[in-house]
Amino acid sequence: MTDSKPEAFIRTLRLKVKQEAYPWLEAAAVEVNQVWNWCNEVSLDAADRCRRSQPRFLSGFDLDKLSAAASEYFEHIGADTIQRVNHEYASKRRAAKRVRLRWRVSRGTRKSLGWVPFKAASLKRKGRGVRLCGKSFRVFESERLEEARWRDGCFAQDALGSWWLCLPVFVARKEFPASGLVAGVDLGCHHTAVTSGNERLESRCYRKLERKISQAQRRAHRHQAKRLHRRAAQQRRDALHKFSTLLVRRYGQIFVGNVSAPKLARTRMAKSVLDACWGMLRTQLEYKCQQAAREFAVIDERYTTQVCGNCGALTGPAGVGQLVVRQWECVDCGVVHDRDVDAARNILSAGLRWRASVRGNELPPLSACRARHPRPCEAGISAQRRAA
Ligand SMILES: [Zn+2]
Repeated sequence: MTDSKPEAFIRTLRLKVKQEAYPWLEAAAVEVNQVWNWCNEVSLDAADRCRRSQPRFLSGFDLDKLSAAASEYFEHIGADTIQRVNHEYASKRRAAKRVRLRWRVSRGTRKSLGWVPFKAASLKRKGRGVRLCGKSFRVFESERLEEARWRDGCFAQDALGSWWLCLPVFVARKEFPASGLVAGVDLGCHHTAVTSGNERLESRCYRKLERKISQAQRRAHRHQAKRLHRRAAQQRRDALHKFSTLLVRRYGQIFVGNVSAPKLARTRMAKSVLDACWGMLRTQLEYKCQQAAREFAVIDERYTTQVCGNCGALTGPAGVGQLVVRQWECVDCGVVHDRDVDAARNILSAGLRWRASVRGNELPPLSACRARHPRPCEAGISAQRRAA
């Protein structure tokens, strides 16, 4: 590996806050909502005033100036939290390309989930917990905070009303023994992921709990339904972490297909697709590979289920109608394939071909990998445009 790679990486710790701090956090979240709604109003007003000419949008720094010394009107939050809200508002508004964003609601059934951001310097260590704005917080798994260097973070509430401390921290590079093994990973609905070495991850957490969730919903046990949803999400995250860590430990190079979840989530397979969490698995593999100095790339996976890995003929099952076919025999060479393993092997060989064609040692980032494989029609169109 070259020396240019950073030796420290940023990971977000998510630690549950102990219950005694919830009332304080609830009150602070109401104040944060007030600041957010003030930003919304001021920003809309500023854009309105110059509507005739060019609408002018306020930046985070503009909002900082306008809200100077506002912290004396708040009981819980300080100036740094107000500034974090200002900047977050400005960047969200810019990204949404809208004149104003949705209001944050503090009460009633449409209450926004609580959120209290802070700057790194204002969060202090206190014993085994932390301290913010004169208030101490105890967290579960507090040993993970020991010797951690953190950046700007936040307290965030989940749908069940529990509060979590979300803290980006610097972590050092993990040293795994070098591995010459390579793997292709096929993402699917039946199994979330199958590798070319036939490791399988079956993560159907929501499907397993679906019946209980629908029962709870029919009985109007809303809290119970939310708890079950959270359990499904936790089980899914746990399974994905274990699987991705296993792959990164074992393999030196990992190639994953570029199947798009948002597109398939609009079809009848939506539930299975969202339950599989391909995006989360890809993200985990990417950062874990980076952290362990392994190679990772996203590969165009078109035709990988149809191509016979043995002879290269397009004889496999094609289309949505043949998703039920899990095993098939190549009519050209007669080899029997497991659909997923064959696809994973094809992704692996496509990855190795792509790897050989890239010069130098450095892999491009994920976005560059995706851009590197334009669909033939798109490439054709852009070529035509250039000619015209
Ligand atoms: Zn064949």
